[in-house]
Amino acid sequence: MQAEIIAVGTEMLLGEITDTNSPYLARQLAQLGIDIYYQETVGDNPQRITALLQQASQRSDLVILIGGLGPTADDVTKRTVAEFLHQPLVTNAQAKEKLTATAARLQHALTPNNLVQAQLPAGGEPLPNRTGLAVGSWNVMQGTIYVTLPGPPQEFKPMVSEQLIPRLAQHTHKVLASTMLRFYGLTESVIATKLAPLIDAQTNPTIAIYYQFPDIAVRVTAQAADHAAAEQLVAPVAAQVKDLLGDAYYGTGEHGSLAQVVGQQLITRHLTITAAESLTAGEFQASLGTVSGISAVFPGGFVTYAPAQKTAMIGVPAATIKQYGVVSRETAAAMAEGARAKVGTDYALGFTGVAGPDTLEGQPAGTVFIGLAGPQGTTVQEFHLLGSRNEVRARAVAWGFKMLQNALKN
Ligand code: ATP
Ligand code: MG
Repeated sequence: MQAEIIAVGTEMLLGEITDTNSPYLARQLAQLGIDIYYQETVGDNPQRITALLQQASQRSDLVILIGGLGPTADDVTKRTVAEFLHQPLVTNAQAKEKLTATAARLQHALTPNNLVQAQLPAGGEPLPNRTGLAVGSWNVMQGTIYVTLPGPPQEFKPMVSEQLIPRLAQHTHKVLASTMLRFYGLTESVIATKLAPLIDAQTNPTIAIYYQFPDIAVRVTAQAADHAAAEQLVAPVAAQVKDLLGDAYYGTGEHGSLAQVVGQQLITRHLTITAAESLTAGEFQASLGTVSGISAVFPGGFVTYAPAQKTAMIGVPAATIKQYGVVSRETAAAMAEGARAKVGTDYALGFTGVAGPDTLEGQPAGTVFIGLAGPQGTTVQEFHLLGSRNEVRARAVAWGFKMLQNALKN
């Protein structure tokens, strides 16, 4: 397969920005064994773009245009390609929905030029834009594939690795292998910063970061001639990613499963668990309940919202609550210890905090203390969690599992 890359943008001709997208794409194509015979830069000018398309159509099987998919008058790429292909522009429903939802969220009125971002030449396949609004396109005419990709690198790179490369791999009979590593407890920006050297250096495998509340997932994908070879490329990079992100790693898989992973660890090791929950009101225990076989290690537990019930049900000393407050390190520890003593388990968690939206005892929403009592003693961690009431509660539950998982490592 012979490919040609056309970077569209007057800014590049004027030397105002450097074309970093073309080399990135070229490296990826080279990995697939696709030859790149021509690369051009052209301004935002329909006539000159058309002239290049005419040339490219004579000599290349794959013509990729980068940039100019935006909503403004100088974004001419898709309509120029559509005219060249003798196709009208049609609206992609999924991309339009994303535009509409984003406009609603930002309380902007959607203008007709915005809708252009959801369009592609008729007869083509949309390339969804996970990190932006302009949809990419893949059209075939007389055996030549024409692709359009957005200019901003943070949109361009994910579209290349997640949309374009898998499609091209099919064409060139390469095989992809990937693994999804799951993390909890670091923000997306911290993960992006820690992985930046790896992400910048890699073309095969590629590394993509996904935010899937409350997890952050990192996908490592490699292509090779066969599956075993692709997996061999994935493995060392996946190991490097895990090393860089340390304790935040909790498991591997397509779907979020902190409760499953930790629940299975408890079952396998015959370690019993209970909990006393205030702000999470049983959600930690409900999550345990999703793990098949958990009854072997989870005899029962407590929902202790009111201070009086913390004392009545699990023996938290009233004096502790009075002295330190219900949302405190000491109360969290006493809840965990009280629950553990009552049920006689190996481990117990105590959750107390402010789910919000209002403050409690002068503590802002999101303040959470989680106590973990176990064979090695009791530890308490303090958190300041972000989000709505239910997001704070879900994050607190996830932190409970994470603390437990970290304790099980020792
Ligand atoms: P937008 O929706 O932001 O208008 P677009 O798909 O229309 O995106 P352009 O308008 O061509 O893309 O470029 C937008 C920005 O993306 C540029 O200002 C530049 O920062 C970046 N960009 C575009 N093309 C490239 C490239 N080839 N290499 C690096 N950066 C680029
Ligand atoms: Mg633009």
